[in-house]
Amino acid sequence: DVVKYLMKQGQMVRVNDVLDSDTAELIIEDFGHIAKRVSESDVEEGFIDDDDAEGSKKPRAPVVTVMGHVDHGKTSLLDALRATDVAAGEAGGITQHIGAYQVKLKSGDKITFLDTPGHAAFSSMRSRGAQATDIVILVVAADDGVMPQTIEAIKHAQAAQAPIIVAINKMDREGANPQKVLTDLLQHEVVVESMGGEVQAIEVSALKKTGLAELTDAITLQAELLELKANPDRPADGVVVESQVEQGRGSVATVLVKRGTLKRGDIVVAGAQWGRVRALIDERNQQLKAIGPSQPAEILGLDGAPEPGELFAVVDNEARARELVDYRQRQKKQTSAAAGGGASLEQMLARLKQSDTKEMPLVVKADVQGSAEAIAQSLEKIGNEEVNARVIHGAAGGVNESDILLAKASGAPVFAFNVRANKQARELAEQEGVEIRYYSVIYDVIDDVKGTLEGMLAPEKRETFIGYAEVLEVFNISKVGKVAGCNVTEGVVKRGSGVRLLRDDTVIHEGKLKTLKRFKDEVPEVRSGMECGMAFENYEDIQKGDLIECFEVEEIERKL
Ligand code: GDP
Repeated sequence: DVVKYLMKQGQMVRVNDVLDSDTAELIIEDFGHIAKRVSESDVEEGFIDDDDAEGSKKPRAPVVTVMGHVDHGKTSLLDALRATDVAAGEAGGITQHIGAYQVKLKSGDKITFLDTPGHAAFSSMRSRGAQATDIVILVVAADDGVMPQTIEAIKHAQAAQAPIIVAINKMDREGANPQKVLTDLLQHEVVVESMGGEVQAIEVSALKKTGLAELTDAITLQAELLELKANPDRPADGVVVESQVEQGRGSVATVLVKRGTLKRGDIVVAGAQWGRVRALIDERNQQLKAIGPSQPAEILGLDGAPEPGELFAVVDNEARARELVDYRQRQKKQTSAAAGGGASLEQMLARLKQSDTKEMPLVVKADVQGSAEAIAQSLEKIGNEEVNARVIHGAAGGVNESDILLAKASGAPVFAFNVRANKQARELAEQEGVEIRYYSVIYDVIDDVKGTLEGMLAPEKRETFIGYAEVLEVFNISKVGKVAGCNVTEGVVKRGSGVRLLRDDTVIHEGKLKTLKRFKDEVPEVRSGMECGMAFENYEDIQKGDLIECFEVEEIERKL
């Protein structure tokens, strides 16, 4: 009938042809039906239901993440806290590392700890939209004080708006100086109670197991202030903490229920995976029938390993699960093909325009702490009362994965000043669509941010990276000077392009090439995998092991 109808309208279609939605709507109405427009993404609707009615909610245990500088005692503290559990007798001790565990305190209160220390885990969860953590324990060694990763942890917690409790660890050590820790923290807007602020600070020793009761008291107090509640009487949803495929067990995912009750036999969708829950196993290696809010457990039965941080929810039936998973897998393919949707300056500009966001978040990495601070200060001065830039993290050192995750989670680009991203960070940035901008002049940084804030990016000079070469040997040749014997490791190097000399991911010289030789001949370019000789104009300090970065500068028209 439809083919006939269309033929009358002068349109020749076959039974397998696809009609555009306008025509489809017309036909449906002409045939006497009511059309309702849907889009493909509508299948996502109702996956995570709206918030429950206040009355249905019951108190739930707080979910706590431990963060801090390496070697300050995160793992030791998590181990010590595991031993504060009084449920060992009734339910067996905590024997399994499943990425999360729950302890029962003497008071009867429960606390869930995410057992995956590391800022990367925390932020990768957040970047997928899952705020699993209610409270962050910031571990600082009393004999070492506030260190770079301590600051990083503070930024992550602040960006997530999770309250911090400071655990001053290693109080048994001789050089312990808790007062210094507290004063240092002031500089990072962590103001503890003894200094007139609201952050609780507890002195502990993970080794000697002192102060642990005070610490858990502090957690319960903080949890009471947060009034954490969830409705346990509904189908479960929550977040994936860890997952892997194990031989003999299939895919095993540790999930943390945020609300509702997850039961054996439920059909679950987690990210682009689904399955019927075959078994629920907790950190005490017990098989459970069901778990409720703030409770972690391993689930068996998914058809693959979902990414940590992915949300999961129980769905009504298999058809619904398949529909969702099919759609998500298609989406995943498309987005990885388009590799975007992340945190570039342009996208941020678009967001700033359409939303109420008035702050432009930035992650700044620089060669020395001094420049990072100088940049942060200059940037924060640019704005007016309507828009301003905010450096959510500024530190010295190369761009690492943690920076990318923090940037992604906050929708911020990364500004790298005289430093480079390591390989993992570059790959992650590409995958997550986070833009890394490289600069070597402070004014360029300021100008770019200013341009963005004003919403008018002037025609800009954009650098495109074209290749890397590694210096294998340095030769001293009379009349020419120092020539680097190199191997092109990535892309291509070209005569006439800009070059930078990198040593340990830090820029030590920027300039031009004097010569580019293959054997005895000057050549216009050398491709990856080949060896060549390179010399800089007016620069001699080249060492074996240095990296030469080639780039081209192109003018890009401003887009409106
Ligand atoms: P992480 O890197 O933060 O997970 O730190 P670890 O938990 O691995 O601890 C690093 C080192 O510090 C280990 O050698 C621990 O034995 C030691 N350590 C941890 N807590 C304490 C403590 O309270 N007192 C002392 N003296 N040493 C500690």
